[in-house]
Amino acid sequence: DQAQPQKPSWIRVKAPTSAGYKQTREILKTNKLVTVCEEAGCPNVGECWSHGHATMMIMGEICTRGCSFCNIATGRPDALDTFEPGRVAHAVQTLGLKHVVITSVDRDDLDDGGAEHFAQTIRAVRHRSPDTTIEILTPDFLKCGPQALETVVAARPDVFNHNLETVPGLYPTVRPGARYFHSLRLLQRVKELDPSMFTKSGIMVGLGEDRQSVLQVMDDMRAADVDFLTIGQYLQPTPKHHRVDRFVTPEEFAGYEKSAFGKGFLMVSATPLTRSSYHAGEDFARLRDA
Ligand code: SF4
Ligand code: SF4
Repeated sequence: DQAQPQKPSWIRVKAPTSAGYKQTREILKTNKLVTVCEEAGCPNVGECWSHGHATMMIMGEICTRGCSFCNIATGRPDALDTFEPGRVAHAVQTLGLKHVVITSVDRDDLDDGGAEHFAQTIRAVRHRSPDTTIEILTPDFLKCGPQALETVVAARPDVFNHNLETVPGLYPTVRPGARYFHSLRLLQRVKELDPSMFTKSGIMVGLGEDRQSVLQVMDDMRAADVDFLTIGQYLQPTPKHHRVDRFVTPEEFAGYEKSAFGKGFLMVSATPLTRSSYHAGEDFARLRDA
């Protein structure tokens, strides 16, 4: 095995200590909610939680897939918790969120991939917090019929996010259970079903991709009418996970951002610490108010 490259200075993050961070943690704990912020060991947790911004992860902590970059446990998930949509809605209201990001593990064990549970969660949040904008970050529903996606879209989230995660050439090693063109088609289908819905996708860089492939992914996304793009540095959660090939420099990120805007994305976040939910609310509000 080759040695990992050294973490550069631009990756360092502050330890979470603020009162806001603690309050967010309490509200999430009281509502027995899981967050991707903690599960993925996200470097932005101190900053995001100090503002009450957390990405809720529904349908359990165990995933039926095993992507090589991801820290979520793989295995047989528990049955769905029918009270979870209500608890998410309660937490969103208590946190006073203007924008919420809701994601989930993959549930290949369920016929609908968890689509109805996603839809119920959207409806529960909407009912309690009608002014909160809702962004969902969904699995690929690879093993379900077209109805699954239609169910989620019919619940009318404001932003539909599905991450492509990496360039197609790296799918066999990075995202072995998924199919690049299926994920791309899913994004396109969302737009076909509801042209007023914003679509969003993202990739990690530093996994071994080259610049040309990243630019091609942007073109593919635009061909599928994807509106928003996020690009962030991949960080290895544990030594068992996919190695970091390299740390992409802030200048290269700035270059990606410029190219992406040039290709017509409405919103782009491309920085080393960008995650698909990083500043999602602020960025969306800016765009809506523009
Ligand atoms: Fe959570 Fe997203 Fe913020 Fe990370 S960037 S702490 S996952 S809300
Ligand atoms: Fe992680 Fe999502 Fe892959 Fe499951 S499908 S292992 S939650 S990235």
